[in-house]
Amino acid sequence: MSNNRTFTMIKPDAVQDGHIGNIIHDITNAGFKIVAMKLTQLSSVKAGEFYAIHKERPFYGELVEFMSSGPIVAAVLEKENAVADFRTLIGTTNPADAAEGTIRAKYARSIGENAVHGSDSDENAAIESSFHFSGVETF
Ligand code: UDP
Ligand code: MG
Repeated sequence: MSNNRTFTMIKPDAVQDGHIGNIIHDITNAGFKIVAMKLTQLSSVKAGEFYAIHKERPFYGELVEFMSSGPIVAAVLEKENAVADFRTLIGTTNPADAAEGTIRAKYARSIGENAVHGSDSDENAAIESSFHFSGVETF
């Protein structure tokens, strides 16, 4: 599996708060190339499928409700060491702990409404990218 692609979503909080442009700017400034992108909205069924790995966690219901509450930007990003470097760029899950200058530190509202998703492995990056994009939508 290649280690040069990751999958991201700009979550409903950041879209609603008007941060799409600034977040894309931060992402491309950090050296990521956009190879797929769209503005879309997840149904609660699709959000539940996407986060199925967290089904047993206490925050699952809230997470699914939040992620289907409004439009998101989904994207596939390319860069050497993409998964790890993107996790560094976005910061920790809880924005209160996120390093200064990270996307979550700058734009997230809370641990749940935390502005962006980033894949946690090359395997999940590939699964998540094909969940949202077909072959002809990915460049
Ligand atoms: N989440 C939450 N409460 C928590 C932990 C996570 O609402 O205590 C949400 C949050 O939106 C997070 C998502 O569930 O981004 C997935 O959790 P994960 O542990 O995979 O964090 P991430 O990989 O996004 O940093
Ligand atoms: Mg995760």
